[in-house]
Amino acid sequence: MKKIILLTLISLFFSCNSSAQKNETKETFPVTKTDAEWKAQLTKEQYYILREAGTERPFSSPLNKNYEKGVYHCAACNTPLFKSEHKFDSGTGWPSFDRVIEGNVAFGTDTKIGYTRDEEHCATCGGHLGHVFNDGPKETTGKRHCINGDALKLVASKE
Ligand SMILES: [Zn+2]
Repeated sequence: MKKIILLTLISLFFSCNSSAQKNETKETFPVTKTDAEWKAQLTKEQYYILREAGTERPFSSPLNKNYEKGVYHCAACNTPLFKSEHKFDSGTGWPSFDRVIEGNVAFGTDTKIGYTRDEEHCATCGGHLGHVFNDGPKETTGKRHCINGDALKLVASKE
């Protein structure tokens, strides 16, 4: 009887272990921090968007109507994500871009709970940014990347 219990415990241990490893490979990003570390680094608003996939109130971000030249970086890990030349006024109340900086933005998959294919996040740290829609400017890409200003910081170009 004792042997059976022991065997059950061993198999439980191994099955837990292998599923934990699977999750890790799916969600590993070059920059990885604990929730406590992100909380210490980010403002409450940034943490809510980037780490909890929240959405800021429309028209609340000072970046919404900002058309200064520069590059929009991830507020968490400083990866350049969007260029000001691709920003447009969508009227939605969120900073909107017709394209991303290729390779630096990743998209959600159906397999990740709560994330759909239109979800987008920073490819470096996994921070949630916003969503992409197909009602962007027709004369360019037709895409509207609807991004939370709290997930971004504008690094103005010097000209
Ligand atoms: Zn990032």
